[in-house]
Amino acid sequence: MKSFGYVKARTTEDAVHSFVSLPDARFLGGGTNLVDLMKLGVEAPGTLIDVSALPLDTISELPGGGLRVGATVRNSDLAAHPAVRRGWPVLSQALLSGASGQLRNVATTGGNLLQRTRCPYFQDTGQPCNKREPGSGCAAVEGVNRDHAVLGHSAHCVATHPSDMAVALAALDAEVELVGPGGQRTLPVADFHRLPGDRPEQDTVIRPGELITSVLIPASSAGMPSAYRKVRDRASYAFALVSVAAVLAVGDDGLIRYARLGFGGVAHKPWRAVAAESLLIGGPAGEDTYRRAVEAEMSHAAPLSGNAFKVKLARDLAVDTLVRLADRG
Ligand SMILES: Cc1cc2nc3c(=O)[nH]c(=O)nc-3n(C[C@H](O)[C@H](O)[C@H](O)COP(=O)(O)OP(=O)(O)OC[C@H]3O[C@@H](n4cnc5c(N)ncnc54)[C@H](O)[C@@H]3O)c2cc1C
Ligand code: SF4
Repeated sequence: MKSFGYVKARTTEDAVHSFVSLPDARFLGGGTNLVDLMKLGVEAPGTLIDVSALPLDTISELPGGGLRVGATVRNSDLAAHPAVRRGWPVLSQALLSGASGQLRNVATTGGNLLQRTRCPYFQDTGQPCNKREPGSGCAAVEGVNRDHAVLGHSAHCVATHPSDMAVALAALDAEVELVGPGGQRTLPVADFHRLPGDRPEQDTVIRPGELITSVLIPASSAGMPSAYRKVRDRASYAFALVSVAAVLAVGDDGLIRYARLGFGGVAHKPWRAVAAESLLIGGPAGEDTYRRAVEAEMSHAAPLSGNAFKVKLARDLAVDTLVRLADRG
């Protein structure tokens, strides 16, 4: 591993200032992704700015019933928080489906959002990869692409985004708060990650030196039936082949009054199923409605040579999840 400098930031101002003044700086959260990539030679920062001790480690209730989750809150603490388990079980379930207990005890909210793809060619410096080395090509397009994207990919990159938590947050209309050299801004999680287009090296719309300070979860879906389900090759300690985050509320008249649907494991970003949602809301609750809505979403899928199975899997998992949520009332 290339040698690097290390700075421990005590304030957010400190962290941003260090980033702009030190060579090739990168923020360090729990290090469970960044340090692995440094060992593989995929990342080689000049300086690590450790942000894990910043005073951003609390979860607080917002006026009106939402939550603010600090960027250094550990994945385990977020999953176990009583307000999350009560109000947004989809988020708790998404977090608990990821990694292992030991990793979740270390991994942070900010780092989880910015973890990088698990595409094996990205992690192998001997292979062409436009994300790691722009212009070098994409080994996955004609290679082993069973785990890769079926929606929103490009000829330049077919990788998927790996975070389970981010899929749940996108479905919950959560927002990311950032502070950087240009000031503060807030973005919807659903718009934070990018599709690859011709710049797959950029996973998100974050700007150089911007620090994630917190995630805001709005009250709109609090207490509604919600669930996260994940299909993977092993029962634990494995990334999603396909996952679904869903929120569904049905009125006394049998019509769907609220629906949110997100997919993981199918695209370069958490895939918010807006076409399906618009067909669900106002429709009669029932399997026919769910299937029509999810099929409309999946009609845009373009599977690769090795992953056509994902389209049916995503459709069936989403329909079954919506049926189960409606049964819960
Ligand atoms: C074996 C294994 C299995 C896993 N399985 C899963 C899984 O099934 N599902 C899943 O979702 N995840 C899984 N993970 C990934 C794990 O969840 C991530 O590694 C973790 O969430 C990253 O958090 P971190 O704080 O350690 O990030 P770090 O490794 O510290 O950082 C990751 C990135 O975020 C940046 N960063 C960190 N904090 C900030 C901040 N506040 N502002 C701006 N930038 C920041 C860093 O610069 C870096 O680019 C797995 C990991 C391993 C090693
Ligand atoms: S899919 Fe993306 S990350 Fe994987 S090899 Fe191609 S360009 Fe690289």
